[in-house]
Amino acid sequence: MSGKTILYVEDNEFNLKIVRQLLSRTSYRLIEAVDGEQGVATAFRELPDLILMDIQLPRLSGLDATRKLRADPKTAAIPIVVITSFALSGDSEKAKEAGASAYVAKPYSPRELLQVIRNLVPEN
Ligand SMILES: [Mg+2]
Repeated sequence: MSGKTILYVEDNEFNLKIVRQLLSRTSYRLIEAVDGEQGVATAFRELPDLILMDIQLPRLSGLDATRKLRADPKTAAIPIVVITSFALSGDSEKAKEAGASAYVAKPYSPRELLQVIRNLVPEN
């Protein structure tokens, strides 16, 4: 059986590279979107096993994208990990209110992020 699919919605190429590298050593399959609208469209189309959602995104914020996904029965149950900015207090509460399953504050260690992913969606 092929690996679980993770959708990463992130506009920052540096962060994308880190997560690509991190997941390349696992059986997870990574798909990507670079803004909130594309993230929602990709989630509806691909129905990934888990979504990593940056909070600050062009076109549609990560919080609004999370709310849209939670409001649709097709995507309502998909675990969403919101990546918040450590500097902005209140982000974690907002992420929970929007329906995040978990959140990780930037800067995070790749190991920490992988652990959060594995807790929500076991690799196999
Ligand atoms: Mg961003």
